[in-house]
Amino acid sequence: MAQKLEYSHGEPTGLKEATRLWTPGDIIPQSILELPTPLLFFRLLRFLKTTKRQGWLDRGIQAQNTESISDHMYRMAAMSLLAPEEVDSRKCVAIAIVHDLAEAVVGDITPHDDVTPEEKHRRERETIEFISESLQPVNAKAAAEITSLYLEYEHESTAEARFVKDLDKLEFILQTIEYQEDVDQGKEDQSIRLNDFLNARHKIKHTVVQQWTDQVLQQREKAKDKVELYYLK
Ligand code: ZN
Repeated sequence: MAQKLEYSHGEPTGLKEATRLWTPGDIIPQSILELPTPLLFFRLLRFLKTTKRQGWLDRGIQAQNTESISDHMYRMAAMSLLAPEEVDSRKCVAIAIVHDLAEAVVGDITPHDDVTPEEKHRRERETIEFISESLQPVNAKAAAEITSLYLEYEHESTAEARFVKDLDKLEFILQTIEYQEDVDQGKEDQSIRLNDFLNARHKIKHTVVQQWTDQVLQQREKAKDKVELYYLK
């Protein structure tokens, strides 16, 4: 068993012949699997801090400057505090914290990886079930809540889940602009272009999140005029 989490995203070595399906126990180091609850959960959370969001790395952002999964979830959780009255903001915060939790074990699988979207979702559900089961003896209510919040988000079955889905896109757009600013300022490779990511705006449905996103985009447009000359050099 590997001593640290390695996100190969494919079948872990040695499992190819045995055609059994991926399980969280295949990738979580034995030293962590053996921990008592809830320490096992606390230790797994660390991987959200250390796992970089793969999309940025694929686009050439330097690893040292690439945000982690928990960086992304934290800003979404803080944004969720500002949810309008018709949605339960506390529930939105909880969904934001849980929505990418499975990536602590599964890793940040992107469409470029050799894993189908169905298999990605299956691994994520397995991981959430694994975490939830491990937390049963500590707090059965919280354990069940982690699963239900995760599923709610996946199925977009409540107003809160849909609101947080939109925040996921807003947070992504904002981060895109921030990295593009870093490029403008010479902190990243000058050939990096991320503007196509801004198309995510069209998928945002809630009017409040649309307004927040438009504010972000308008601000970028204003700032862009100042850097136009830089691009022409
Ligand atoms: Zn996310």
